[in-house]
Amino acid sequence: MSGAIAAGDDPLIDDPEVTMSDPTNAAPPSDAAGVSGAGEGNGATQAFQAEVSRLLHLMVHAVYTEKDIFLRELISNASDACDKLRYEAIATPALLSDDTALQITLEPDAEARTLTIRDNGIGMSAQELADNLGTIARSGTRAFLEQASGAEAHKALIGQFGVGFYSAFMVADRLEVVSVKAGSDEAQLWSSDGANGFTVTPVEGDARRGVKRGTAVVLHLKDDADAFLEPHTLERIVRTYSDHILFPVLLAASTGDADGDEAAPEARGEANGEARQINTASALWQRAKADITEDEYKEAYRTVGGMFDEPALTIHYKAEGRQEYAVMLFVPKMRPFDLFDAERKGRAKLYVRRVFITDDAQLLPSYLRFVRGVVDSEDVPLNISREMLQNNPLVAQIRRAVTGRVLNELSGLAKRDAEAFEAVWDTFGAVMKEGLYEDFERREDVLKLARFRSTQGEGWRSLAAYVEAMPENQTEIYYLVGETLERVKASPQLEAAKARGVEVLLLTDPVDHFWTTAGLDFEGKPLRSLAQREVDLSGIAAAQGDDKAGSDEPEKDASAKDDAANATLIAGLKNALDTAVSDVVASKRLVDSAACLVAPAGAHDRGLEKLLSRQERGEVSKPVLEVNLGHALLKAAQAKHQAEDAAGLADIAGLLLDQAYVLEGEVPQDPAAFSARINRLVLAGLK
Ligand code: ADP
Ligand code: MG
Repeated sequence: MSGAIAAGDDPLIDDPEVTMSDPTNAAPPSDAAGVSGAGEGNGATQAFQAEVSRLLHLMVHAVYTEKDIFLRELISNASDACDKLRYEAIATPALLSDDTALQITLEPDAEARTLTIRDNGIGMSAQELADNLGTIARSGTRAFLEQASGAEAHKALIGQFGVGFYSAFMVADRLEVVSVKAGSDEAQLWSSDGANGFTVTPVEGDARRGVKRGTAVVLHLKDDADAFLEPHTLERIVRTYSDHILFPVLLAASTGDADGDEAAPEARGEANGEARQINTASALWQRAKADITEDEYKEAYRTVGGMFDEPALTIHYKAEGRQEYAVMLFVPKMRPFDLFDAERKGRAKLYVRRVFITDDAQLLPSYLRFVRGVVDSEDVPLNISREMLQNNPLVAQIRRAVTGRVLNELSGLAKRDAEAFEAVWDTFGAVMKEGLYEDFERREDVLKLARFRSTQGEGWRSLAAYVEAMPENQTEIYYLVGETLERVKASPQLEAAKARGVEVLLLTDPVDHFWTTAGLDFEGKPLRSLAQREVDLSGIAAAQGDDKAGSDEPEKDASAKDDAANATLIAGLKNALDTAVSDVVASKRLVDSAACLVAPAGAHDRGLEKLLSRQERGEVSKPVLEVNLGHALLKAAQAKHQAEDAAGLADIAGLLLDQAYVLEGEVPQDPAAFSARINRLVLAGLK
């Protein structure tokens, strides 16, 4: 393959994302021979992907208060590059050759006004330079771009998302990246001013800037960025953001110091003799809890977890016994940007004896994918391939144990600090509820953690609290699923429960449609949807002091004669509505409303039916129309029925069905017929 061709032009790399997420997938660097002279490989200017241009524009022109973070980003990339090389070298030790001490060096040069961030990690080929530094690989950066509108917003967001490599343009007006891919000799120079695209050219001699393997990122600092030449500034930033990067971060003495320092400018790269380490470079998770400060945890959360807010819960322990491993996991406060990605993958990182292996080992089930951090195993074989990890029994055992522990810790938090736990639930509950139908083994545990909105007050309610408050003769836990809290609260299906003071859980997450089909119970009390036909609340005592309850029971004051008349009315309505409904029944629960829709016995909940019909998936069963025989509209229908006015009865039947749909937040099934019907009814009334 030739050098710097635009991403997508190379038949070998038809999906640039694949290459970017794992540069080791690319063709071996030895193939990149003969780059010079090959049309596009000799430094022709290439355009940035459109999104990159937008991002760069933001970087170049906005004034960020948090400029410091560019260093965190570049050091984190250097550290990733060292991680990748160390992992590759397990299978191919020759890649390390005699340069085995993986490290990151910061080289300020006051005279040239450059800051170089150097690593001896995996390096990049010409193709990888063009792909990785010409497009946007990370969805986090995309999310940033989507949300960033207005300068103030940028300021707040930039720290949260971590905009990666391109953040260097906040402090530099020109960037040069010299890189040598491990296993290759060829050096490539990527160069850009951040505005007019970039070039990739092979380089030799001094232009290699001393790179034998790995990458040197050279920042030509902007006029107002002098601070980043000062050792104490660099040291402060590293201590703040990058202290626990696992590789040593060295600070070289400034070459070409303004006050006439001895060191010669050519000494770049060889300055390590004078370089001193400025980070701790230890695996924080291996240290005892007592020796770690709150701030250190926070920082680890950022470097290891890749998050930029603060953890809501920190879980740190060492497992000893059948297997030995250290765990440091964090529950974020904020939703990670990829929380609702279709892949539903977690990002917890697997290390084996301090060597980073992968963040794709699915150390936690999907419904805990928001948990970030590290598991560092002493027993998993180092040379296991990433693919084999999925099936490794040791990893499977870790997965089980760690999942149990996370749920346990969450339950501990719930007991210790209800408010803090509710905040976690508020943020991640919708995800955790996926566990209710995905993790049979831990369903109970998840159900215990679950919190719900309810007709009882504004706050969150646990099932334990619900059951505790249940009147003696209530045997089921009632819930209603809907799209928004307002809508469920206004649902006619709630009327009887409200009148009787029966608490109902109000579920409004899309996932609620699914887990509720699993037929769960809690402490022997089945969960029961009020949108289902058979629900009968008449056995539960009415709320005290509620004069409404009971008195509106339609069938209570109904005599036998009325019963017969009602039966024929219902038959008449059913006849009029024909195939639009599967049945018409007298309601035991409606108090104020004339009618509502419920799912027929054995069918899905109405909410799920609606969801499925919107997605055109599955058979949708016709709803049952429940009518309130005590309502004036039904009395009017009875009059029409007895006068054998079939057209008049059909109009009222149609109106009942239409309004039942409207109460569910739907539109009438046949809008034209709806309008005509309303007009007829209104005009008849005006006569
Ligand atoms: P991210 O690190 O989230 O992938 P960045 O914008 O920070 O996003 O970096 C983009 C890509 O450039 C990285 O994924 C990596 O492939 C490549 N890259 C950046 N810096 C280096 C480096 N020092 N060594 C090797 N590859 C690098
Ligand atoms: Mg990065």
